[in-house]
Amino acid sequence: MVTPGLDGYRPSWQRPEHDDLAELARAFFTKEVIPHAQRLEQQGHPDRSHYRRAGELGLLGLSVPAAYGGGDGDFTHEATLLHEQAHTGEGSLGLAVHSGIVTGYLVAYGTEEQKRRWLPGLCDGSLVGAIGMTEPGGGSDLQAIRTRAVRDGDVYIVNGSKTFITNGAVADLVVLAVKTDTSRGADGISLLLASEFTRGRTLDKIGLHANDTAELFFDDVRVPAADLLGQEGAGFFQMMRQLPQERLVIGVAAVAAMQRAVELATAYAKERTAFGKPLIAHQNTRMVLAECATRTRVSRVFLDDCIERHRRGELDVATAAMAKSWLTEGQCEVVDRCLQIFGGYGYTTEYPIAKMYADARVQKIYGGTNEIMKELIARAL
Ligand SMILES: Cc1cc2nc3c(=O)[nH]c(=O)nc-3n(C[C@H](O)[C@H](O)[C@H](O)COP(=O)(O)OP(=O)(O)OC[C@H]3O[C@@H](n4cnc5c(N)ncnc54)[C@H](O)[C@@H]3O)c2cc1C
Repeated sequence: MVTPGLDGYRPSWQRPEHDDLAELARAFFTKEVIPHAQRLEQQGHPDRSHYRRAGELGLLGLSVPAAYGGGDGDFTHEATLLHEQAHTGEGSLGLAVHSGIVTGYLVAYGTEEQKRRWLPGLCDGSLVGAIGMTEPGGGSDLQAIRTRAVRDGDVYIVNGSKTFITNGAVADLVVLAVKTDTSRGADGISLLLASEFTRGRTLDKIGLHANDTAELFFDDVRVPAADLLGQEGAGFFQMMRQLPQERLVIGVAAVAAMQRAVELATAYAKERTAFGKPLIAHQNTRMVLAECATRTRVSRVFLDDCIERHRRGELDVATAAMAKSWLTEGQCEVVDRCLQIFGGYGYTTEYPIAKMYADARVQKIYGGTNEIMKELIARAL
């Protein structure tokens, strides 16, 4: 994970084991998944076999205890994997959600029985996880969700719908936010482990074509009460505890994309000529690349500080919000400026920078919009 033009930079948390993991992940993405990229984009979702292969290689559930089939590591290992995925340009597998988020909920809040039931499958790739918070009526105001779960003996009867669910077309398990008490706001929200639902449309997006984002419907779905994750009414608090990690995961992908954009644009600027000399010999190109490389390096250092804090269990909500908003804004800016260096070719899908431009845009939207991030930062001032 060397930042362009800055040889020798290593995050304080990086150990030789992270280098080995990065190498394994890089080889998997580049040799086994990326060769299928065009087909995966056309089908609109990843191959299940790639999840299973990632599981076989030990790349899933890196921070899950070994007792449940995981890698027994911590968030630094998840971050290493996600960096490699974004840096190689692999965009089909929903690993940020599957491993970066869903397993985290189970480890943090699952009963022993729930962990034994779900974690081994999520770690070996035979199961795919998703998280269902957003509803058609709104995503920013989580307290206002309308999907209801009414307790009836030893089951909950669930009615409602979710939208924009990453991995929604392939998921076997959804950590589902529901209202168990409509008379209350945040305190009326609970989390269920839902494995029965009806899949709606897989949404047609401007980017991330190989990763599925789908609607899910719950129509009198009976979820066993034993599949309540944590305490009834604690769901909002549980999500608030987990969202900093979700935001950090987005930041990891943002910095990896910035790094890739600078590398691609630098290579192009060295080979393309205009007015009789390589683009990189023109002063403006040099300035743009220098600024983008600097932004990438500063972003990387801030991200690493957040990763280190998170590893120690000390990443607060406002700092995670700063990371998510600032790093994704940096990603969109750096990718846009790097695309410009490619001229017309940057606008054609033959060049990866074009795909990176379309893929980057959503980073400012999901995981809580950047406007909501700024609200969270301002609240802490
Ligand atoms: C590709 C993709 C994948 C996603 N994956 C998932 C997933 O796996 N699980 C999941 O649950 N959700 C997922 N989402 C949903 C995403 O988290 C929501 O889209 C996001 O939280 C915003 O919600 P919304 O779209 O309803 O926008 P709204 O909440 O309707 O917001 C619309 C606009 O108003 C602004 N706004 C709202 N409230 C305020 C305020 N108080 N102050 C200032 N501005 C405000 C917002 O910032 C935004 O610009 C995904 C979305 C996409 C596009």
